[in-house]
Amino acid sequence: MLDQLEAQAPDALLALIKMYAQDPRDDKIDLGVGVYRTNDGATPVFRSIKAAEQRLVDTQDSKSYLGPEGDTGFVDAMKPYLFGDDAGIRGRLEGMQTPGGTGAVRLAVALAKAAGVTRVHLGVPSWPNHAQILRDVGVETVTFRHARANGTADTDALLETIANARETDAILLHGCCHNPTGIDYTADDWGRIAKALADKGILPILDVAYHGLGQGLEEDVAGVRTVLVKVPEALVAYSCDKNFGLYRDRVGAFYMVARSSSGLPAIVSNANALARANWSMPPDHGGAAVRTVLCDEGLTTQWLEELDEMRARMRRVRERLAAADNEAPGLNLAMLGEQNGLFAMLPLSKDQIVKLREDHGIYMAGSGRINVAGLHAGNTDQFIAALADVTRQ
Ligand code: PMP
Repeated sequence: MLDQLEAQAPDALLALIKMYAQDPRDDKIDLGVGVYRTNDGATPVFRSIKAAEQRLVDTQDSKSYLGPEGDTGFVDAMKPYLFGDDAGIRGRLEGMQTPGGTGAVRLAVALAKAAGVTRVHLGVPSWPNHAQILRDVGVETVTFRHARANGTADTDALLETIANARETDAILLHGCCHNPTGIDYTADDWGRIAKALADKGILPILDVAYHGLGQGLEEDVAGVRTVLVKVPEALVAYSCDKNFGLYRDRVGAFYMVARSSSGLPAIVSNANALARANWSMPPDHGGAAVRTVLCDEGLTTQWLEELDEMRARMRRVRERLAAADNEAPGLNLAMLGEQNGLFAMLPLSKDQIVKLREDHGIYMAGSGRINVAGLHAGNTDQFIAALADVTRQ
């Protein structure tokens, strides 16, 4: 039976990690893996999380089962950061904990399918797992262009997609810090998107995986909030794995906004049933650590400072790259200063990407995606010089 399975293509990024590890050069640069790095190239545990974990170790008296909804204290503590004062959706909003943002995206798509959605519109390029999840859950993916060649969002393509959508369609949008392009919709765009979604009445699935890594905690979810107050119903997938540095602990949340408060319990019960059949219950530890941070004023302040530091560092790298626009013509580095989050896409050819790796020890995804946080004061000039070299020929 099992020998009927065809081998799947190996994950390209994992292969890149292996190649990087085997490269003996001291000045090699890893821009592949999508995790935040400090100026020293480390991905440390947040100090606020360490303190929260210590408190959990000291005080947690049971590891008995929770339920498919996970740690509701965590889910509720996250709400003000994501939804603000939640005016306009109060009484129609409920959430549950999920294994990472990935679990939340999967649950959103599965719930949409259970409700009758047959197709999901997806701007491309996107996080590769979006398409995989849609395929695996069993809905059709319909793509539209996310980015223009000039480094801005193709909002016209999105609005046209919404205008031509069918009643049983949903649309999957990145809330902020678009992966892989870093190209977000402007506030004005979000206003038009919200109106178009409300006019058409199709279901938005909003994926917020990099909250606080772009312009700020409030700014990064302003677009999501604009949509939520306009549309009758929506699903939101949220990840705490980047903004709390909890990657391997798999911390996410899934929020449902119903048309009416009376319709909410049925929606939540379906999400619970789907979670039960998938992972039964989410892993507890990371969510409990986030709850502990957010329920303590001192730890919250410390977390906000750590997040500010991350964001400021990435902005400095982006500004340095943007200032080098003239040194690598054709790559439109200037736009990196306008874009947000961990990622940017450089319009490099396959040959140039290979040359960067072989001649300069610079490792990036074959798509030209770079992790901006892989750069720091000690290697950014080297990276710019390498870009200048490969774009010269
Ligand atoms: N959505 C997007 C757009 C992402 O980039 C990611 C992480 N790479 C996720 C969701 C899922 O994040 P997590 O690691 O929390 O599952």
